[in-house]
Amino acid sequence: MDKLVSLCKRKGFIFQSSGIYGGVNGCWDFGPLGVELKRNLRDHWWHAFVTSRDDMVGLDASILMHPQVWVASGHVEKFHDILVDCKECKKRFRQDHLESEQCPECGGELSEPRTFNSMLRTRMGVSEDTALETYLRPETCQSIFVSFKDIVSSTRVKIPFGIAQMGKSFRNEVNPRNFIFRSREFEQMEIEFFCHEDEAEEWFDRWQQAIWDWYVAIGLKEDKLRWYEHPKESLAHYSKRTVDVEYNFPFGWGELQGLANRGVYDLTQHKEHSGKDLSFFDPERKERYIPTVIEPSAGVDRTVLALLCDAYDEETVNDDTRVVMRFEPKLAPIKAAVLPLVKKDGLAEIADALEKQLRKKFNTYYDHAGAIGRRYRRQDEIGTPFCICVDHQTKEDETVTIRHRDSMEQERLPMSEVGTHILKQVSIRDLC
Ligand code: ATP
Repeated sequence: MDKLVSLCKRKGFIFQSSGIYGGVNGCWDFGPLGVELKRNLRDHWWHAFVTSRDDMVGLDASILMHPQVWVASGHVEKFHDILVDCKECKKRFRQDHLESEQCPECGGELSEPRTFNSMLRTRMGVSEDTALETYLRPETCQSIFVSFKDIVSSTRVKIPFGIAQMGKSFRNEVNPRNFIFRSREFEQMEIEFFCHEDEAEEWFDRWQQAIWDWYVAIGLKEDKLRWYEHPKESLAHYSKRTVDVEYNFPFGWGELQGLANRGVYDLTQHKEHSGKDLSFFDPERKERYIPTVIEPSAGVDRTVLALLCDAYDEETVNDDTRVVMRFEPKLAPIKAAVLPLVKKDGLAEIADALEKQLRKKFNTYYDHAGAIGRRYRRQDEIGTPFCICVDHQTKEDETVTIRHRDSMEQERLPMSEVGTHILKQVSIRDLC
């Protein structure tokens, strides 16, 4: 983890938030490379689960919502963590994260447990007396339930169908830790899939398969992934069944995504609290009912962390250590670097023009500083899958070499074909 955290800072993937002021716990900034990786991940997810399917639609709702939403959802009453304090070192822990009855830091005695609501409070409005006390949303899914009626009446969706949303969520985590794994501000990618109760188990199985296939498609190693089935007695108040996808991080197995059967809990709660009818008329069954909800709920940041951990590799090449981030090319922040073999003899001008042309198709980088071997290594470290080298032969026959990050092998191609050749391998739309 230490090597990865240092690479992320050094290369501009992830920085501590407000670093010049000493940082703020549980918040992170995605730098120039991190932001591209995260965008590619989101685009891949959106295309895989929304635009490439005919039974899904999207939503981008506001983060601030009416405070009654959180009363109806059960968050005001039940979104609690149980805390204990160490009487010796004064550190605070979530009781469900402890493995023994002693302080994990110093072995000291722990206090009696007490509850703590994890929602972050805020106030909306300028006047002290009329400002509305509400919360920064702790999950994106409630706005999907709250917008359900508007979406049903403004589109032609028919059950079974799903609504997807991605965006920021906030939780006042007791102990933010493990880099971006547990933060106070993070992003979620959530789907609420509405179906008839009789088909819920079937849809649960289908989503379980689709989720697994997606993690494999984004390049995570299958032997580092597993399912965890929540025992009935520890299910959340809304859930009839929950399974989590876990990834084997350097600090142990951790949840990437939950898949839950939420039954009719949320729509029923919002129907009761708002007084609005949130049932659906199913023309095929000729029946009006509150649909059952299957919810795949994933974290963007945790997936980014899994991608970084999974991609990180070190190997010895000619007595030297090569650090290489083996990202799936579709997710790599930079797709191709264009490098003139030497700066002189007009090669830099040709490479520069080629890079400008390719930049219109995908993310590129131009570099002419230093020996070519060093420049390849710099790209390996940030996971660029292709390096295009403009050499003296380019001037004779307009061909260039493409060096592949993983195998370090090179092939020669006409300069005019390089763009389409690479685009085929990095396009997020081309999933199959
Ligand atoms: P945990 O048990 O790890 O606290 P959770 O079960 O409360 O997580 P969910 O409410 O199911 O998490 O949220 C769905 C997803 O949102 C999680 O699988 C995770 O990827 C992400 N997530 C939740 N809390 C955080 C957090 N504090 N920091 C980063 N991602 C988070």
